[in-house]
Amino acid sequence: MKYNLEKITQKISKDEENGCWNWLGHIDKSGRCRLKVKGKHLNIKIELYQLHYKCELTNSELLFNDTLCANPTCVNPNHFNKTTKQEYAQSKEIPIEKRLKDNVIINDAGCWEWQLRLENGGYGAIRYRGYDYRAHRLSFEVFKHAITKPVIMHSCDNPKCINPDHLSEGTQLENMQDAAAKGRMNRRSSE
Ligand SMILES: [Zn+2]
Ligand SMILES: [Zn+2]
Repeated sequence: MKYNLEKITQKISKDEENGCWNWLGHIDKSGRCRLKVKGKHLNIKIELYQLHYKCELTNSELLFNDTLCANPTCVNPNHFNKTTKQEYAQSKEIPIEKRLKDNVIINDAGCWEWQLRLENGGYGAIRYRGYDYRAHRLSFEVFKHAITKPVIMHSCDNPKCINPDHLSEGTQLENMQDAAAKGRMNRRSSE
């Protein structure tokens, strides 16, 4: 590693003003600062970080400097934080509350009508953290609480609607009774 370190430092230009160590060597398509040493493509940010903090990064960890210098060519270990890949992805994602609210149009009845993909029965569909959800069910969980009963019913009878105030939990029987009361037994009930 000592031999590598010399090769590495030769390709660093230290910026006295902001403390960044700018990498002058190769930067690959994913923005990784690379150096080929004895046939191995070293990842310089990781090499220097591990050396500085005397630690070993695992496959599920990554380094980020967005909250510090945010300089894509910087390799100064003091400008990096370590986090798990999962946590990092979640910190970058648009909050689910916003995704739900941004993709509806509110109609005269106060329904939040889902504007993205609809599935069978006219229910809104959304992909969230790798899973497919019905938008109204996710809305109920996000704005109210975890679903404990089999069916989420619409008081407005509008399958596109994800307004949590128009949603309530029920059993299959309650849903059928609700449907009968509203005269939509011929249509498939909400779920
Ligand atoms: Zn920096
Ligand atoms: Zn509604």
